[in-house]
Amino acid sequence: MSGPSGVGKGTVVAALRRRYPDVWVSTSATTRPPRPGEIDGVHYHFTDDAGFAALIAAGRLLEWASFAGFRYGTPREPVLATLAAGAPAVLEIELQGARQVRAAMPEAQLVFLTSPSWAELERRLTGRGTEPSELVTARLERARVELAAKNEFDVVVCNDDVGRAAEELVQLVRHPRQRPG
Ligand code: 5GP
Repeated sequence: MSGPSGVGKGTVVAALRRRYPDVWVSTSATTRPPRPGEIDGVHYHFTDDAGFAALIAAGRLLEWASFAGFRYGTPREPVLATLAAGAPAVLEIELQGARQVRAAMPEAQLVFLTSPSWAELERRLTGRGTEPSELVTARLERARVELAAKNEFDVVVCNDDVGRAAEELVQLVRHPRQRPG
């Protein structure tokens, strides 16, 4: 699952984890420092630049990307082990990573989470009101680019309501849909 920053991917995946603890969700590695309340090994595997570089060098990441000054990647082995056991694996990743997954695993279902309207996304991205305007402008610009990638995805889910979007996501996990061809 991917989608523009500010759309609420993390919140929808948190709701999915809460409601369906049996659905396996990948834990990414990142060089970003933990935020208050984030637990190493649960929300992310927190690592430093050298540790992340070692994961790349050893071919242990299914995909990885830089985002807002930090690197994020999906450990390959747990995904393969889950799939080998016949269970679905959910990844919550940004756009460049989703493209790498599509290339590495063409059978993956790519879900795009979108917001009900541009105005709503703008409201969420500017909502904090604490950042300098250049940063907000840069973030809105990036969101426009990310929204333009919607057509690369198999399914679009609208985050009009977190619980509803999580339900739709779990249905897609259980009954995948893919674009023909
Ligand atoms: P945050 O720092 O807010 O937790 O995440 C920032 C961005 O990184 C989000 O768009 C999130 O989807 C993305 N992200 C988290 N884990 C991964 C990953 O393993 N790979 C990629 N490509 N993006 C990720």
